[in-house]
Amino acid sequence: MYHENVIPSADAPRFDGPRPESCPALVLNADFTPLSYFPLSLWGWQTAVKAVFLDRVNIVEEYDREIRSVSFKMNLPSVISLKKYVKPSRFPAFTRFNLFLRDKFSCQYCSDKDDLTFDHVVPRSYGGRTTWDNVTTACAPCNLRKGGRTPAEAHMHPHIKPYQPTTPQLQANGRYFPPHFLHETWRDYLYWDAELEA
Ligand SMILES: [Zn+2]
Repeated sequence: MYHENVIPSADAPRFDGPRPESCPALVLNADFTPLSYFPLSLWGWQTAVKAVFLDRVNIVEEYDREIRSVSFKMNLPSVISLKKYVKPSRFPAFTRFNLFLRDKFSCQYCSDKDDLTFDHVVPRSYGGRTTWDNVTTACAPCNLRKGGRTPAEAHMHPHIKPYQPTTPQLQANGRYFPPHFLHETWRDYLYWDAELEA
């Protein structure tokens, strides 16, 4: 039986706030838009604090969590902005997450949303490359069924012809798939705050 005044427990609430490791800082560009959306630009607290001391960023918002050393104390930053503007890249990185996001996390052959894999539309054995314009999202059963065949051979054509998305195109899809963890102080700086009201 648990007596909160008697038994110290590893599960007992901590009174010094969350662990610093669970306090990443959202990094904004100098124009106060996120440095990147996919993945969301987050720095660990040590990187963020170091950047503050190197005078490379401004603190925009803070966690209710203090860190101290002999010579200083400060609240961990929850949102920081770069002092110098960095030109964002026009095209997002070709990653697993970004590819699924382009295809809205649904199989491009049957629209299923489970058990997603990649399919080379033109199979590698036919010289098909692993690029934005030849890889599509497919559920495992469709991938298996299509096998090493071309769309014509398999009579399976992806709903949307694979393409290289621009950053704004992925951002538009990202509205439907917000990250699992968003600190409340980040919401003003992200475009999907309206979708988080629920
Ligand atoms: Zn499928």
